[in-house]
Amino acid sequence: MNEFSVTILGSSSAIPTSTRFPSAQLVSHNYKLFLVDCGEGAQIQLRKNQIRFSKIHHIFISHMHGDHFFGLIGLISTFNLLGRKMGLHIYAPMEIEQVLENQLHVTQTKLNFAIHYHFLDFNTRSLIFENKELEIYSFPLNHSIPTCGFLFKEKAHPRKIKKSVLSKYAIADSKFEGIKQGDDFIDTEGNLIPNDVLTTAGNPRKSFAYCSDTAYSKTLSSYIKGVDLVYHECSFMEDMRKTAEEKMHATTYDAAQVAKEAGAKRLLIGHYSARYKDIKPILLETQSKFANTLIAIEGLKIEV
Ligand SMILES: [Zn+2]
Ligand SMILES: [Zn+2]
Repeated sequence: MNEFSVTILGSSSAIPTSTRFPSAQLVSHNYKLFLVDCGEGAQIQLRKNQIRFSKIHHIFISHMHGDHFFGLIGLISTFNLLGRKMGLHIYAPMEIEQVLENQLHVTQTKLNFAIHYHFLDFNTRSLIFENKELEIYSFPLNHSIPTCGFLFKEKAHPRKIKKSVLSKYAIADSKFEGIKQGDDFIDTEGNLIPNDVLTTAGNPRKSFAYCSDTAYSKTLSSYIKGVDLVYHECSFMEDMRKTAEEKMHATTYDAAQVAKEAGAKRLLIGHYSARYKDIKPILLETQSKFANTLIAIEGLKIEV
């Protein structure tokens, strides 16, 4: 089974509290790190969680509201002070380039490393990153300015060869890779042995979806069907539905509804308004509609 986890660095909405930071999460897949949103103070939270800065090469920014990217220039500046040479990939709305380049220009900061910008498409689901084991997609959300969510989805795991068949059919090592990918096998007498006789299914593909700021969206669930863990913002409780709709944010019931429609196994909520001193009622109200709900708090690490 692959290592796959999400660590909460910031659980607050736009205004931080004495204990809650603006949005940021760290996704780790086989110890490769992906920073998702970078609210103010994200670098302090990375320090608290003992995350090595030199291991972060990919940063995803969902939209251009400050509570999702005001920590970025500080983090980039720290990378530079630490002597970083490796390039940094930023997946974000196109305006991010102008903001960062202006900040670097007026502070006369010359970076020792390159920033590679990848601009988001707000119209459709798009594959924006892949390696051997993982695909990352962006998908459109329903907020007051163009906003994307991100889906982290493992690629299909190779099938597992049954131990009992190795000696039975005298399978050479050189055939293993093909059989794991679904090939049949022809034995020394020319008989074809079908793949399902030789193998069992590989580990299930795990997935995590990050639904940043958004009002309820009927189409959202179609982008993240069958997801194992979905993070959905939940700025307000149900009694503030009118405010939530005006600000194009979600309530407890909205988050639960999306999790249900997506067929998600677990729901993680966050981005609470600063008005909520106690977040327990937010969790209970969401659980009344979707039982398998977790509540984001700073430092919480969840295995996907
Ligand atoms: Zn926000
Ligand atoms: Zn926003």
